[in-house]
Amino acid sequence: MEVEREPCEEPPPTMMEEEEAEAISVAKDPPRIHRLDQSVVNRIAAGEVIQRPVSAVKELVENSLDAHSTSINVVVKDGGLKLIQVSDDGHGIRYEDLPILCERHTTSKLSEFEDLQSIKSMGFRGEALASMTYVGHVTVTTITAGQLHGYRVSYRDGVMEHEPKACAAVKGTQIMIENLFYNMTARRKTLQNSADDYPKIVDLLSRFAIHHINVNFSCRKHGAARADVHTVATSSRLDAIRSVFGVSVARNLMKIEAADDDVSSSVFEMDGFISNSNYIAKKTTMVLFINDRLVECTALKRAIEIVYAATLPKASKPFIYMSIVLPSEHVDVNIHPTKREVSLLNQEAIIEKIQSAFESKLRNSNEERTFQEQTMEPSSSGPKDTRKDSDCSPKLSGSRSQKVPVHKIVRTDSQDPAGRLHAYLQVKPQSHLGKESDLTVVRSSVRQRRNPKETADLTSIQELVSEIEGNSHSGLQDIIKYCTYIGMADDVFALLQHNTHLYLVNVVNLSKELMYQQVLCRFAHFNAIQISNPVPLKELIMLALKEEDLDQQCDENDDLKEKIAEMNMELLKQKSEMLNEYFSLSIDLDGNLSRLPVVLDQYTPDMDRVPEFILCLGNDIDWDNEKSCFQGISAALSNFYALHPPTLPNPSGDNFQFYKKRQSSRNPQDEGNSSNSLVDDVVIEEEIDHELLAEAENAWAQREWSIQHVLFPAVRLFFKPPTSMATDGTFVQVASLEKLYKIFERC
Ligand code: ADP
Ligand code: MG
Repeated sequence: MEVEREPCEEPPPTMMEEEEAEAISVAKDPPRIHRLDQSVVNRIAAGEVIQRPVSAVKELVENSLDAHSTSINVVVKDGGLKLIQVSDDGHGIRYEDLPILCERHTTSKLSEFEDLQSIKSMGFRGEALASMTYVGHVTVTTITAGQLHGYRVSYRDGVMEHEPKACAAVKGTQIMIENLFYNMTARRKTLQNSADDYPKIVDLLSRFAIHHINVNFSCRKHGAARADVHTVATSSRLDAIRSVFGVSVARNLMKIEAADDDVSSSVFEMDGFISNSNYIAKKTTMVLFINDRLVECTALKRAIEIVYAATLPKASKPFIYMSIVLPSEHVDVNIHPTKREVSLLNQEAIIEKIQSAFESKLRNSNEERTFQEQTMEPSSSGPKDTRKDSDCSPKLSGSRSQKVPVHKIVRTDSQDPAGRLHAYLQVKPQSHLGKESDLTVVRSSVRQRRNPKETADLTSIQELVSEIEGNSHSGLQDIIKYCTYIGMADDVFALLQHNTHLYLVNVVNLSKELMYQQVLCRFAHFNAIQISNPVPLKELIMLALKEEDLDQQCDENDDLKEKIAEMNMELLKQKSEMLNEYFSLSIDLDGNLSRLPVVLDQYTPDMDRVPEFILCLGNDIDWDNEKSCFQGISAALSNFYALHPPTLPNPSGDNFQFYKKRQSSRNPQDEGNSSNSLVDDVVIEEEIDHELLAEAENAWAQREWSIQHVLFPAVRLFFKPPTSMATDGTFVQVASLEKLYKIFERC
């Protein structure tokens, strides 16, 4: 059927209308399509991936988790606009990969599209780091296992700004993003006007921390002494929630579980902690992990809120931590630019099952509702705290048996880490798993016990070893064997608890002596630390001589130093065969140092001390007498390997000033009057040398970690404390709890 068009009855267009029509017809001309410049494309894409500072932090933390880190530390300045720094102790990044690290679509986690089906890592697109370089300044410092030094390199717009520079580094990777959105004025302005992202970042880290409970997390504002998130790895989810969200939340949580294994409807396992009827909050907190990814699911959240509203009398919003695990082929992780959402196969069925699990849990808890007694915190419990993960039900305080008199209760024992000072302090980056290192120590002790005499076939060495054994102090030995390491009291002294006594122990002396004993025990049977770029001895000696000059304010001329260095190098070259065979110290024909011994497993000495060590070998050894020669070399090695405070001052002490950049604000009229130039230098409060500070923080954290996880376990197993240590200030008893108790009793 044809429709006849009605004749147009509108009046003819006026002049005005004609003009308008013309204008419209011009606008309707199709605009030309052209290719965008690659840099514009990249920047637009980057703006999508990195929407705000918190998205950058999420990507960086996920990368650290993908790198199997056990410790992740975040530092933020100006809500992340000035600085975001994420340091981890993961596997690091290969040197060869650094040139393409920040190119778009470069990843180590995916090769084929099909891999997405079974992907376990959080990243897969290879876009995050690239994006950050298009909207901020990125600096990466990283070291991989077995390397003696790391590399640092900065990136802009996907490419390296310079060749990677060798640098000192602790295990893992540190990524620093400065001036985020410096080239996106509108984004920066909006972010500056809105409340800053720091609370969002803290919230993000809190969420990660209660799921990945085997990882230590910390998050703090730059320059702040206290961390706002600080968790220590634990095996109890509830403990993790308690430490992040507080006692009042943890007290009111119940464990929940649900699962389905019916292929025709849904396949999943869910477990979590949810708030009971005593919990009161205005806003729902829902922490949801699906296959270990932190995601959001509005439908599920809504479904749960409905159950709460229907079941519990109070109009309180719930707290929910939930982890859902599905077969990975049932989850599409690739549906959201920031991976904030995932899509699930049979989502409705899963939500329904979870909803009914909530319903029955809440109904039961509502019926059984009882008044709770406040439980005691772990710090006041006896030495063996056997709380279990699922044991979140309140304990009746009267039912606890306390046989030990109160003044004899010890906060910690050597087996039980609860109560260590460490747990109360800000988390420091850790570079290895504590357990792993304990294991290695045990393994090597077994190895040594199996071959007790193997190492001692030279009489001089036998004599030196028996001198150690004959001179050992049994009281100190007992303390050392059964003590608990509580923490560092200052840069040199560690606090130990042994029964009801507290001791301060000088870790420099202790570690030096331990290293000495270990060198003699391992004599001729060392494993080796390979130095990837052998270092010329002559340069090392020159360095050490110059350093000495600085200390003594004298200024010998360089020719003389050159001569000394040359002579020392020749001497050491002559001795190289012996040094190599007995001490695993390799010096090649050209006079380069290429190998060092492993004196303690899991421990690499501070390489800043190599020059001093080589100078000492060249100058201070009596090469003519076998026994004193071995003793001298062992002493030089032990001084080198001892846990001295790092060269950079401790940034958490009074030395923070050191890291503030000095800027000269000299008045031009005063030019030439340099006598008071020091006075003219002003410290600009805000300007802090991040690089130096990060280096120092790493060095100090690494040392503290080594003290706790390498030094003390080894000391417990191997150390024979010489009698002199009882009186020379290495061990000092600072308190006896019985006596303290008496004092406090009187108050
Ligand atoms: P994706 O995580 O999607 O692969 P990214 O741009 O986030 O992409 O990271 C690129 C690559 O850089 C990763 O695949 C990984 O190999 C490496 N990488 C990034 N961060 C770290 C880190 N903290 N530790 C070790 N490797 C890292
Ligand atoms: Mg990533």
